Order: sequence, then C-alpha cells, then structure tokens
Amino acid sequence: MERKIVNVMEDLASSLITVMLTSPEYQLFCKCEQCRMDILAYSLNNLPSHYVSTKEGKERAFEQLNTNQHRRWINKRIIHAIHVVGKYPKHYKAVQ
Ligand SMILES: [Zn+2]
Repeated sequence: MERKIVNVMEDLASSLITVMLTSPEYQLFCKCEQCRMDILAYSLNNLPSHYVSTKEGKERAFEQLNTNQHRRWINKRIIHAIHVVGKYPKHYKAVQ
C-alpha cells in the first residue's frame, strides 16, 4: 500500500547522513545498514518532524528545510547521533 504521509525531515536527514558517512572525517565509523538506521532513528528523535501528504508539499518542504542555515543545526544532531551509535553499536544484534 502506498504511504499517505511522509516525514520530509526523514528524507533530508537520511541523505545528509549518507553524505556525512562518505566524508573522510567519518571513515572509521561503521556504515552497515543497522548502524545507518540507528543513526537515522537517533537523529530523528532529536529533530522536529515535518510531515506532508502531497508530492508538491514534499518538494516545497524539502526546499525550505534544505538550506545552509537549517542543514547546520540538522547536521549537528546527526553528528551527535553518529558518535553515540559509534560508541554503542548495535550491529551485532542485527546479525541473525
Ligand atoms: Zn554497524
């Protein structure tokens, strides 16, 4: 079934995490799917959600959120999440 609403912050955080994990600064951090999802979940718990129900609304919200100013504080929370997950990785729990 098609999703009716999406959290634009989730899409934005997800792409920012991907960019960040590919930078040399984070080359020592685990990039497995479990850690990535954990970083995303942890980040989203500390970020305001931004739900939309239409494609147009999604594009508009993404444009509004994806500015240098917004990315700066969103990235701060993502960096914090990367460090927390890096310190307490759960990937061993996912291998089953
Ligand atoms: Zn991992």
